[in-house]
Amino acid sequence: MTPTEQRAEENALEIWHIALPVPLRKTLDYLPPTPGAKPPAGARVRVPFGRRCLVGIVVGSGRASVAPDRLRRVQAVLDERPLLDPAILAFLEWAARYYRHPIGEVMAAALPAPLRHGRGAVPSLPRRWTLTAGDRDWRTALRRAPRQRALAELLATHPEGLDEPALDARFPGWRPIARALAARGLAHAHVVSPELPASEPPPALNADQQAAVERLRAAGPGFRVHLLDGVTGSGKTEVYLAAIGEVAARGGQALVLVPEIGLTPQLLDRFWRRLRVPVTALHSGLSDAERHRAWFAARSGRARVVVGTRSAVFTPLPDLSLIVVDEEHDPSFKQQEGFRYHARDLAVVRARQLGIPIVLGSATPSLESLRNVRLGRYRHSRLPERAGAAAPPRFTLVDLRRDKPVDGLSQALEARIAGHLDAGGQVLVFLNRRGFAPVLFCPDCGWTANCTRCAARMTWHRGERALHCHHCDARRPVPAACPACGGQGLIPLGAGTERLEQRLRTRFPGVPLARIDRDTTRRKGSLEQALGQARSGQCRILVGTQMLSKGHHFPEVTLVGIVDVDQGLFSTDFRASERLAQGIVQVAGRAGRAERPGEVILQTHLPEHPLLQTLIHAGYARFAEAALAERRAAALPPWRLLAVLRAEAPRPEAPRVLLAEVASALPASEGVEILGPAPAPMERRAGRWRAQLLALAERRSALEPVLDAWLACLEARPAARNVRWSLDVDPLDLY
Ligand code: ADP
Ligand code: ZN
Ligand code: ZN
Repeated sequence: MTPTEQRAEENALEIWHIALPVPLRKTLDYLPPTPGAKPPAGARVRVPFGRRCLVGIVVGSGRASVAPDRLRRVQAVLDERPLLDPAILAFLEWAARYYRHPIGEVMAAALPAPLRHGRGAVPSLPRRWTLTAGDRDWRTALRRAPRQRALAELLATHPEGLDEPALDARFPGWRPIARALAARGLAHAHVVSPELPASEPPPALNADQQAAVERLRAAGPGFRVHLLDGVTGSGKTEVYLAAIGEVAARGGQALVLVPEIGLTPQLLDRFWRRLRVPVTALHSGLSDAERHRAWFAARSGRARVVVGTRSAVFTPLPDLSLIVVDEEHDPSFKQQEGFRYHARDLAVVRARQLGIPIVLGSATPSLESLRNVRLGRYRHSRLPERAGAAAPPRFTLVDLRRDKPVDGLSQALEARIAGHLDAGGQVLVFLNRRGFAPVLFCPDCGWTANCTRCAARMTWHRGERALHCHHCDARRPVPAACPACGGQGLIPLGAGTERLEQRLRTRFPGVPLARIDRDTTRRKGSLEQALGQARSGQCRILVGTQMLSKGHHFPEVTLVGIVDVDQGLFSTDFRASERLAQGIVQVAGRAGRAERPGEVILQTHLPEHPLLQTLIHAGYARFAEAALAERRAAALPPWRLLAVLRAEAPRPEAPRVLLAEVASALPASEGVEILGPAPAPMERRAGRWRAQLLALAERRSALEPVLDAWLACLEARPAARNVRWSLDVDPLDLY
């Protein structure tokens, strides 16, 4: 630097780097609100952006490199104390860089909506309202105020008071009315603190569980990844609870990540009763206010354990000392749109940055994690047997070429269902396809009902009397006759859960049955209700999709029927066999979880398929070994790193032209293989044509420059009208 340059640098104005929720892969520079103000890293600020005013996060400061008259000024600092501490800021910056996602959008993903919108950091606490009329004749006093009287009547029936969420549900618009009652001295609100539940002693851990806990303890408090590989029902949760209990006793916080549908009130209750420290849940079902409260409880250190779905990985936790990822193989940890991150992978990074242990648990570990065990990066603890008295289930394959199914069910499966019902067992019939039939077909001319906007068939939903595209959500009425030839004999091919339900109700009349899938559980609370009936054993037959398969404990289920495994065997996706094996083992794990032994029946057209044979006779570990060898031979993940650039547009050429341009902008580089551009496996979806460009590399250091070059090329060109693109680093699906 020359002396002149140095002087210019010293005289340059100080600027703050702000992450704003806009699709830019960089921070923006602003002048401080007052000259010389100290930059509060991690605090929110309000800044002008174009004609708008946005809330952003201060991530650092520097010296202006452009003329100050081109810079705008921060309007206000919104937080006295930074919302995000340096550790979480560093974590978010790492995530933005790794996934090449706009930093401001990553930061926004870490904040509950009220905070994103600039609301005060400290949330209001939920309160409980009680009637405080005493002996006064409030009914007469409220003669002319019918709404107030109605609310008072409701409160009168609850002498212990009603919580605000309960009031929201039972008396819409209650707030101003409650305030009016309070002004008359007739009602009162107070903040409730949850009561400590009665304690529940833990079961005596079995030898394998003890060994796993001991290994965690022996590894000490530093960074280490433990893969807890325990068969379904082996008591992994007890191992987590023991480890979390120790951390909590030393004053640490713990973060537990669970798959989307694994976070049940039962699980929270179990944590709460056993740990007896404040446990907070964070998931997408919360209202904005609830989420804000939960987030703040975690961030302020009041919550000692946070149990949440994938986005909970971003929660600031000042005393975080242990992370647990339950069902680490579960695809719902990957966000498939917008900021495409993998919460398990990020959890490992967060643990590494903080220097704390992390436990990844699963009955069917991902091939990624198993490979890390082999490489010596992860420690491996096994729980090979079920806890308590439960024995492993027995498997049988039904050959659908010989035993032709009726409405999806073979005679063999129906006979076993009858047998188990007679013996007092509960039966679970699993099919990962909702609706009545996946294909509506004309036998006269071969026409099928296809979606006009997707390269896909439409599913017939008989109850709704509609054709429904599961890819773009389009709905159409069911034609009375074939639109191509006028034929009157349209027939459904294949079966979905709705068809299974119909068949089972006809075949087993009077047997209480529940169907659990996305169609039957749309109403809030309906899934809980159905699962409650399933758990209590009230329903003897359960039909459902993967909603039934994960994490649920149905003590009376003795038979699991897996209606269709062939979908997974025929898929072209390189992860399909891993998914299929995991799905089978997880569903099978619902059978015989208590004292009664379980049985699993799989229907297939390919009973001799090696995947099924290995899985059934040798188990998941052997399947995984074979699958890893195949991935290695094909040089696919986890043997190589993968990134995909997707593009889509209403016209077929545009996405491929764009991707070709991007591909050609890249100089040939060693250690990277570029595939495509090629049409996506589903070439048309929701009216748009889709193409993709893949990069495979053995090392991150070889992949990174490719991603940077792709983005530089995309960001340098004028926004191609109507072509949307997205980058997916470590994609789970190539759909
Ligand atoms: P996983 O998560 O491995 O599928 P869970 O932790 O849910 O298994 O445990 C399965 C069942 O076994 C639960 O009902 C649990 O209470 C019970 N269980 C776990 N550990 C023990 C133990 N050591 N002794 C008796 N029962 C146990
Ligand atoms: Zn026809
Ligand atoms: Zn469609």
